[in-house]
Amino acid sequence: MVFQAFLIKYAEIGIKGRNRYVFEDMLVSQIARALRAVEGRFSVSKTQGRIYVKAESDYDYDETVDALGHVFGIAGICPLLQVEDSGFEELCRQVVAYMDEMYPDKHMTFKVMARRARKNYPMDSNEINRQIGEAVLEAFPDIRVDVHQPDVYLNIEVREMINIYSEILPGPGGMPVGTNGKGMLLLSGGIDSPVAGYMVSKRGVRIDAVYFHAPPYTSDRAKQKVVDLAQIISRYTGPIHLHVVNFTEIQLYIYETCPHEELTILMRRYMMRIAERLAKENGCQALITGESIGQVASQTMQSLAATNDVCTMPVFRPVIAFDKQDIVDIAKKIKTFETSIQPFEDCCTIFVAKHPVTKPNLNIIRHSETKLTQIDEMVERALQTVEVIRVGE
Ligand code: ATP
Ligand code: MG
Repeated sequence: MVFQAFLIKYAEIGIKGRNRYVFEDMLVSQIARALRAVEGRFSVSKTQGRIYVKAESDYDYDETVDALGHVFGIAGICPLLQVEDSGFEELCRQVVAYMDEMYPDKHMTFKVMARRARKNYPMDSNEINRQIGEAVLEAFPDIRVDVHQPDVYLNIEVREMINIYSEILPGPGGMPVGTNGKGMLLLSGGIDSPVAGYMVSKRGVRIDAVYFHAPPYTSDRAKQKVVDLAQIISRYTGPIHLHVVNFTEIQLYIYETCPHEELTILMRRYMMRIAERLAKENGCQALITGESIGQVASQTMQSLAATNDVCTMPVFRPVIAFDKQDIVDIAKKIKTFETSIQPFEDCCTIFVAKHPVTKPNLNIIRHSETKLTQIDEMVERALQTVEVIRVGE
């Protein structure tokens, strides 16, 4: 069957009142953005509290559904058969043909759900339900009505046109990106941080990202992997400005100046400081990391506290209490996993100590930092030489 249009269902919880318009308008523009990558022309419109996507040319159905499946805020995607109102008899014929094509095996139950949004239609919704139900039963001897738990809800919406639909394909849920500010994601090449970015973005937050690399200790391929990850999540998050920070000088300086077992914590504190500066410069309200309690030495409760100590902005760690497997499951779902497990060196692992502190003492850490007399200049230099890579535009 060729569907000319889609009805977009969205969760309305929490979007009553004035915010509703912001939510809907943002959803419309995010849908339009996602469809720009799909072959075909579409119009996206909002009428009477519903959002429709209409194909204005030939288009690829699977690609379209896939693109819509990446737009946060969409709860369900309903492929529509839209027909002109050419009288009720003709409608019955069209509905029967629709059911015949959609469900080759008629051993099933259904229930008609009519909605009369155009009040001058000569029948009310109960009558439409009954008469269409009868027409379908008459056409297919194997089919049954079940008003409580039908296999299929056959929706008939009488508007200017008449919409017929019975399939609701799941959307990704969440809230449209752009309805909830902006966050700076610390994106490494690992499994966790892309998932963290996806999760926060799902709540409507736009994402920018920062990646710390340490050439020549980390390669261009390690950097490309991060660009690839940003590209993959940008299908959900929308365009990402990836800030690539050259961290080599800072890393070497800490390595030469401070006890090696403190290196990871000190490095992470400077990462957070730089990330926060970039976040402020780019209008972000929060930092986002893929940290998870106990995963590695730098993610014990004490280490997390020591890292957090340098931040004044809220730091969101959406996978903080997730088991690795739960993170992996999401990474597979959003298709970052295969890229994340490519074996490239990471700037955190290169200088890593044999026995890093797992319970850093904040006073000792702060004291070590007083020895880093030239680090402020290095931080400025790192900020001045940031490379910005635009992804997903
Ligand atoms: P991930 O899988 O996200 O790399 P991880 O388990 O390897 O996480 P760490 O290396 O300790 O954990 O990093 C914790 C978090 O710090 C990451 O999730 C990420 O948000 C941030 N981070 C670590 N290294 C970098 C980096 N090189 N550039 C940007 N952010 C980083
Ligand atoms: Mg990592």
